[in-house]
Amino acid sequence: MNMASAVTSVKLTSLPLIAEGKVRSLYEIDKSTLFFLTTDRISAYDVILRNGIPDKGKILTQISNHWFSVLSTKIPHLKHHLLTLTPPDSLTPSERALVHGRCMQVKRLRIFPVEIIVRGYITGSAWKEYTKTGTVNGIPQPAGLECCAAFPGGPIYTPSTKAPVGEKDINITPAQAREIIGQEYADKIEGLALSIYKIAAEYALAKGIIIADTKFEFALDEATGEVVLADEVLTPDSSRFWDAKAYTVGQEQLSFDKQYLRDWLTSNNLNGKEDVEIPENVVAQTKHKYEEVFERLTGSTLAASLASLE
Ligand code: ATP
Ligand code: MG
Repeated sequence: MNMASAVTSVKLTSLPLIAEGKVRSLYEIDKSTLFFLTTDRISAYDVILRNGIPDKGKILTQISNHWFSVLSTKIPHLKHHLLTLTPPDSLTPSERALVHGRCMQVKRLRIFPVEIIVRGYITGSAWKEYTKTGTVNGIPQPAGLECCAAFPGGPIYTPSTKAPVGEKDINITPAQAREIIGQEYADKIEGLALSIYKIAAEYALAKGIIIADTKFEFALDEATGEVVLADEVLTPDSSRFWDAKAYTVGQEQLSFDKQYLRDWLTSNNLNGKEDVEIPENVVAQTKHKYEEVFERLTGSTLAASLASLE
């Protein structure tokens, strides 16, 4: 199969680089605006693979954009950081081609130093804690929950710390989050995060996708004092998406998008190994899954969405 190659690193010369994350590069446009660029890098078991998934950065960007517009309609008072998907004029023609579809101009904000996680279903670290102590993030849960069951009282807010690079985030109680970011902002964020999750989960379920859990980043707009939804939103990288048709309570579910990659790593004994090259067929199948998530959620193809940006 002949596939466009993945964009695993983007070096722009026309804007100053201010930060490089696991997946994104942040450039400065001006004092109040950032250029938010999503590469095709992919990580599994906390390690970035050597090659990426072609178009993954475009898919994540367009999914976030879709959610920003869905959420703005459903929660009119919600503020978010997206300004436009068009690159700034200062980019050279070749840079514009490189970033097309994978970039956003966003408001430059101060991110609250807590990962805002909402869980509708018990899995991952929440399931691990529950099996030991009957709690999730220190909060007692009803007895007898099965693995991957929906929380009977509805989705719960389970914040974690934002660990420095190379360290693991630690789950904290909502009370500890309140101490870190202050009562007023913490309450606002908790309320917003739960509303967004509920609206998004219902929306996705109607399209055959269970959003088991997700991580938001909220920020403070220092100019207005407002709490703003930032970063990527409800993507397969920031959320656990399950295929609703395949969902079976009482067992671990396969994540919708990274299932082929994880299976291949496990069967080749490569979990957590550095600098692993993903074979072409696994890249193709993973790409196909990201596209399927995109198409189910947005009801459009990636090509059509990208064409509408022209
Ligand atoms: P992190 O765990 O901090 O998200 P990461 O490796 O996932 O690290 P990336 O997703 O690659 O990081 O990069 C995005 C970075 O941009 C994150 O550090 C995020 O907090 C930050 N960010 C997102 N939106 C904004 C914004 N509007 N203003 C400033 N920083 C932002
Ligand atoms: Mg991130």
